Amino acid sequence: MIDLSKVPTPCYVCEEELLERNLKILDRVQKESGAKVLLALKGFAMWSTFDLVGKYLYGVSASGLHEAMLGRETMNREVHTYSPAFREDEIEHIAKISDHLIFNSPQQIRRFLAKAKNANPKISCGIRINPEVSSAPVDLYDPCGTYSRLGTTLSNFDIQILPDLEGMHFHALCEQNVDALENVLMAFEKNFGPYIEKMRWINFGGGHHITRSDYNVDRLIEVITEFKERHKEISVYLEPGEAVGWQTGPLVASVLDIVNNGIEIAILDVSAEAHMPDTLAMPYRAEVRGAAKAGEKPYTYRLAGNTCLAGDIMGDYSFDKPLRIGDKVVFEDQIHYTMVKSTTFNGVKHPSIAIWTKKRDLKIVREFGYEDFKRRLS
Ligand SMILES: *Cc1c(COP(=O)(O)O)cnc(C)c1O
Repeated sequence: MIDLSKVPTPCYVCEEELLERNLKILDRVQKESGAKVLLALKGFAMWSTFDLVGKYLYGVSASGLHEAMLGRETMNREVHTYSPAFREDEIEHIAKISDHLIFNSPQQIRRFLAKAKNANPKISCGIRINPEVSSAPVDLYDPCGTYSRLGTTLSNFDIQILPDLEGMHFHALCEQNVDALENVLMAFEKNFGPYIEKMRWINFGGGHHITRSDYNVDRLIEVITEFKERHKEISVYLEPGEAVGWQTGPLVASVLDIVNNGIEIAILDVSAEAHMPDTLAMPYRAEVRGAAKAGEKPYTYRLAGNTCLAGDIMGDYSFDKPLRIGDKVVFEDQIHYTMVKSTTFNGVKHPSIAIWTKKRDLKIVREFGYEDFKRRLS
């Protein structure tokens, strides 16, 4: 447990021990199923931890040039790059630093495959297909929703590209358990069955909530093992993002002021909009350490951000004791999908990024200031 008295706020604190716990679960999946697990950088790109991550995982899944560069520079294991649409002026650079290249459409393959192979003769190319099984809980996070641009549907699949392909990729889940994967896999094998045997690898994408306490890891291992028995000689990849950073640490804030306008409102030194954007976009209510729903404990406050956006509000929470200026407020599980999405909106100070090490030290790996705000603008 982090010693909060050592944490200057605002600060994201990743707990090394909790991260390693997740990595060990993912490594068990690798060892017992034979699948290879990649970190999807979209959800967790705290590269100061990548020496540790790279000890367990097989590499990274990147969504374009910059994530591919980051994966190559900071982990230097396998780099698998997919983009909804590659650009002509980036494809060679991407190909040079990637091991797998995954195209979104037959048209992109026709335009860029030769160029990519010229740049890197060893590159293994595949296509993302859309299995057309929609089960993700929210439209914003449903890769297979109506009119989705992500992946090629069976009716748009062009068998003329088959000789160019070594792999197929699907990504259809979001925070889901293995039963959802089983449904997607059934549709994938039914629709694309004849093509699977021609492939060297199949990438099952992300959205597998493998490290959540109620995830059925044993069943996942069975599902992959059975798939590999049905399709011999085919490698299976998984590329979770959230499951790597899941519950690995909080965003620690302080109370800057308390005002009353019909209710008590605590203004914090963090912003929901700028520093925990999924709480507004998804939306979901972040857990606050020691707090409960409004009215459950004696002292209820609206927790609110320090930007001038009216809706910059985390929610209403109740506490055992009154909050005071300077008190720390700890938002749980704010490591994944936060620092990868955060902004310098309104010029508010971006939280520092720190690691709570296994030796119980706080290592601040990055602090932000005025220059970070200025340099994003012109
Ligand atoms: C977002 C994404 C992932 C990771 O998803 P999680 O929900 O974070 O596990 C993996 N692959 C692709 C193609 C993605 O877009």
